[in-house]
Amino acid sequence: MTDTSTDDEREQVSVPSEIEFPRLLDFYDLQTADQTQIHEFYDNLRAGQLTTTRCTECDAIHFPPRIVCPECTGDALEYVDLPHDGELFAFSAVRGGLPLGLREHEVPYVVGVVDLGPIRLSGRIDDAAYSDLEIGDSVSLKIVDIDGPTDEDRVFYRFEPQ
Ligand SMILES: [Zn+2]
Repeated sequence: MTDTSTDDEREQVSVPSEIEFPRLLDFYDLQTADQTQIHEFYDNLRAGQLTTTRCTECDAIHFPPRIVCPECTGDALEYVDLPHDGELFAFSAVRGGLPLGLREHEVPYVVGVVDLGPIRLSGRIDDAAYSDLEIGDSVSLKIVDIDGPTDEDRVFYRFEPQ
């Protein structure tokens, strides 16, 4: 039988009273050229223009932006401007169950699919309650700056009613 430790000899471990916001729970992409190959999308968005990639071989337009065309596997892609106004194609309200660490606690909020013509994309619909909206409503792009948890200047897109 081995000698068992007494209370006096046991190592003490501690649990922090606060936990730092983990990078893995950051909802938004890192956006610079050394972090993502679609950095041009974020550069354009930071400059005020929503863009995406178009394949110069088969003319397919993708969203989100790609580095290889999912239609023809070509890699000759160019960035094209997207309209900033569109129609609400579908929408729902988020009432709870936010990802752990998300800094926005103002539930409920609205998310939707917006038809911009060339593409449909999903995004948050700001400045509107679920009960205020109807399918087919006109919405416009809204670009937001992201505060933290990195030191980078990051942006993301949302929409708002016109
Ligand atoms: Zn293609």
